[in-house]
Amino acid sequence: MKQKRTEVAELGEFGLIERLTQDFPLQQPSTHCGVGDDAAVVAPTEGEVELVSTELFFEGVDFDLTYFPLKHLGYKVVTAAVSDLLAMNARPSQLLVSLGLSSKIPVEALDDLYEGIRFACKEQQVDLVGGDTRASMTGLVIGVTAIGHAPEERIVRRSGAQKHDLICLTSNLGAAYMGLQLLEREKRVLADVEHPEPQFKGYEYLLEKYLKPRPRTDIVDVLAEEGIVPTAMIDLTDGLSSDLMQLCKSSKCGARIYLERMPIARQTSQLAEEMHIDPVMAALNGGEDYELLFTVPLSMQEQVMRLGVVDVIGHITDEEAGCYLVTPDGQQMRLRAQGFPEK
Ligand code: ADP
Ligand code: MG
Repeated sequence: MKQKRTEVAELGEFGLIERLTQDFPLQQPSTHCGVGDDAAVVAPTEGEVELVSTELFFEGVDFDLTYFPLKHLGYKVVTAAVSDLLAMNARPSQLLVSLGLSSKIPVEALDDLYEGIRFACKEQQVDLVGGDTRASMTGLVIGVTAIGHAPEERIVRRSGAQKHDLICLTSNLGAAYMGLQLLEREKRVLADVEHPEPQFKGYEYLLEKYLKPRPRTDIVDVLAEEGIVPTAMIDLTDGLSSDLMQLCKSSKCGARIYLERMPIARQTSQLAEEMHIDPVMAALNGGEDYELLFTVPLSMQEQVMRLGVVDVIGHITDEEAGCYLVTPDGQQMRLRAQGFPEK
């Protein structure tokens, strides 16, 4: 059965915005005015500072609509925007979503996109407070801006890591990258097949990590509950190597991470082996994990381990010592901020 297809032009800009932004109840006391006026009005609570971060996604560059369900895409773009605030140790509270729409995209597809955004907003208790909607000649473009609030003394920058600090990581690595490789492989293999039936069995976790990554709001909450303020923090979007090097550059320090402590999920190493990809390279250079990497003083080792949600993968050194991965036989491999080729 063919799905109903409504052209954006049939609704017009105002009709479309009204349809997409309905059913977004405001949840945050700091939202004084949401969608519908010339600008949103947001008021941080006394003693808190405001944080703002924005992310931009282009069809064909950042996502491929042949296999990316729009509902998941809606969820993922919120994760991406929110993750930058979490990396500052702040919780998100408002969101703005801007769209560049090609004539290819029907209203029903945008309904799906906003269903994903709505789900994420509810889950994160974030209010959709505005955006912009324009025509695009280059496929779908999505811009997402997240606003958050936090007491100033809890804000964590990239620049605070000190020699001997422990390097902590919130989950396994490389799964999102391998999820992307799987989707790309099935797309290639099934390019000329009339009724494609992609083979994803056994790799559901990888697909979920790539298509629907959860923002680690839980980590920010746990750190707050336990009274831990990391010395430095960054979210993992470009790959561990690249992001750790960014943190070290800002903090003017070096790092040693240990291969045997590197968490890699079974599905990640299994698919990597199947596709002749080095799982360690996937873990070091694969992006879009949206996990958090943070440092704490050595004296907090026990406290951090007790959280049960992080792995300690190494420690901070002098800047002159550089950034290296240490193998079990004691060899040192220099980390490089190469990232993986996109596809
Ligand atoms: P303006 O002409 O002032 O830019 P618009 O007509 O573009 O106003 O938008 C009307 C309202 O809808 C504004 O509150 C705006 O922030 C919001 N809005 C516009 N596009 C989107 C979108 N894609 N998602 C969410 N809110 C949107
Ligand atoms: Mg506008």
